[in-house]
Amino acid sequence: MTRAKTKKKPPAVKSASPQRSASKKTNANTRKTPVLRGPLAPERVAAILKALDEAYPEAVCALTHRSAWELLVATILSAQCTDVRVNMVTPELFRRFPTPAAMAKASLPELEELIRTTGFFRNKAKSIQGAARKIIAEFGGDVPQTLAELITIPGAARKTANVVLGVSFGKAEGVVVDTHVFRIARRLELAKADTAEKVEQELMKVIPQDRWISFSHQVIHHGRQVCIARNPKCRECNLEQLCRSKDKTWSS
Ligand code: SF4
Repeated sequence: MTRAKTKKKPPAVKSASPQRSASKKTNANTRKTPVLRGPLAPERVAAILKALDEAYPEAVCALTHRSAWELLVATILSAQCTDVRVNMVTPELFRRFPTPAAMAKASLPELEELIRTTGFFRNKAKSIQGAARKIIAEFGGDVPQTLAELITIPGAARKTANVVLGVSFGKAEGVVVDTHVFRIARRLELAKADTAEKVEQELMKVIPQDRWISFSHQVIHHGRQVCIARNPKCRECNLEQLCRSKDKTWSS
């Protein structure tokens, strides 16, 4: 009925100002356009989450660890390094220095030697020893359980803090955005920003909070196995029909 009325009165629009006319059109379009359209439509986000669940139902953190402290150290070491490489280094590292107290007193050259193959080993050695000392001095020897506290620890920015909070404490205060999550969030148009911090903020708005932890694990697995940086394996991807990325190598 509304449409029929509008069609019958085109001359009346002549007297309206262009601005008013545009406003009317916008309102009309807003009414007609389904709210759930677009890349961030809840129904599309839900479809992406469902596809990730189907592909990676058991996705967990790939860093070997037995405690929040070990996970914190392993995550610091994983910067610019594969989890596989970190997992080769940490058993001996934690055998030599099993606690923050032991790590706080370690000799820096010995620490450097133990973690040398993870790259940037001088900075990383300083970070993990600094982390140990901070945890002893300010947190009673225990890894803190809030984002605000964790990001004060040397070597631990938001990504590391979110990993520890999610994996060790089951707390979702943010979304882990590593290189895989950053790339795939943008390919799937869940985020547009050009920094990990901003992409995290975008993801926190579109992904339900109870999915923040599993979403990151699943996307990291997807990034390692299928949606790799160069030549993603789109033919094998169960998200393919939801993806309009320019990087696609195959389209159904
Ligand atoms: S279709 Fe290709 S680019 Fe898109 S998510 Fe899948 S693997 Fe990545």
